[in-house]
Amino acid sequence: MFAMLLDAPNEPLRAGRVEPPNPGPGEVLLRVEACGVCRTDLHISAGELSDPKLPLILGHEIVGTVVDTGAGVDRFTVGARIGVPWVGWTCGVCGYCRSGRENLCDRARFTGYHRDGGYAEYTVADARYCFDLPDRYDDVHAAPLLCAGLIGHRSLRAAGDPARLGLYGFGAAAHLVAQVARHEDRRVFAFTRPGDVTGQSFARQLGAEWAGDSTELPPEPLDAAIVFAPVGSLVPSALKATAKGGTVVCAGIHMSQIPGFDYELLWGERVVRSVANLTRRDGEEFLRVAAVVPLHIEVEPVPLAEANRALIRLGSGQVRGVEVLLCSAPTTAP
Ligand SMILES: [Zn+2]
Ligand SMILES: [Zn+2]
Repeated sequence: MFAMLLDAPNEPLRAGRVEPPNPGPGEVLLRVEACGVCRTDLHISAGELSDPKLPLILGHEIVGTVVDTGAGVDRFTVGARIGVPWVGWTCGVCGYCRSGRENLCDRARFTGYHRDGGYAEYTVADARYCFDLPDRYDDVHAAPLLCAGLIGHRSLRAAGDPARLGLYGFGAAAHLVAQVARHEDRRVFAFTRPGDVTGQSFARQLGAEWAGDSTELPPEPLDAAIVFAPVGSLVPSALKATAKGGTVVCAGIHMSQIPGFDYELLWGERVVRSVANLTRRDGEEFLRVAAVVPLHIEVEPVPLAEANRALIRLGSGQVRGVEVLLCSAPTTAP
């Protein structure tokens, strides 16, 4: 099958042909219909996350059709359309797993990082970690739900119950969170790179009542803020914009160093926390929301063979919404 392979960090992906995987016990073999390009893919390819499987097939926002099942899979049958997220396997027995926090499992294996992902014509996934997808979205539009949507949802829940929500970095996740937050009657304030007027008008179209530069203060204090951009200096900026008792949630898997700041910014019971990975429960909850709320999902479809170009464009901040790779083979046989 055709796949885009990461041989080593900081090298472009290599287009190549590899043997299609076989589904082991509990696994499904999927024809990949679409796979979203996530900022985490950039962090992995840049060597910012340690010890990836190599060579590696990136991609953890996978929409696929089941073409074969391994022993013991009764949850999905051949022909089903399902989604594969970042969390690909957890141990099930550690303290985190047994307390509803499998997102923190020390032995967790992640899709497109420790396991091959969706930048390929076919992939395998542990059926227990896959999701049914809402019918209202086609393959290309459903793909971003699987990371941007899920992490956005977990971040929004971690923000508490804010009346005024700030979003720092208005990209893949924020554009979905903004719509869910509006659906929940929250007021949304969007922060972009200084001078990104296109991004700011995109945020206003999706329901932000105010959009401005990340260096600015909002017109009134926030009750919570989510930092999606991987820029550590945004943490004190967000704290400065947040009222007493407010929470600043860091949603990215990697961030540049957070500069020192005065205790006064944290005083008043402000909280800084991160959100890591997802649980299957997060996924099920969010996909129920996505089935009800008619999300406008901004996608840019890209042929699989042009994955390198997609990563470069994402890294240079040229993407509004989410780039989605079109992966399915013209033939049906792996
Ligand atoms: Zn565990
Ligand atoms: Zn992701």
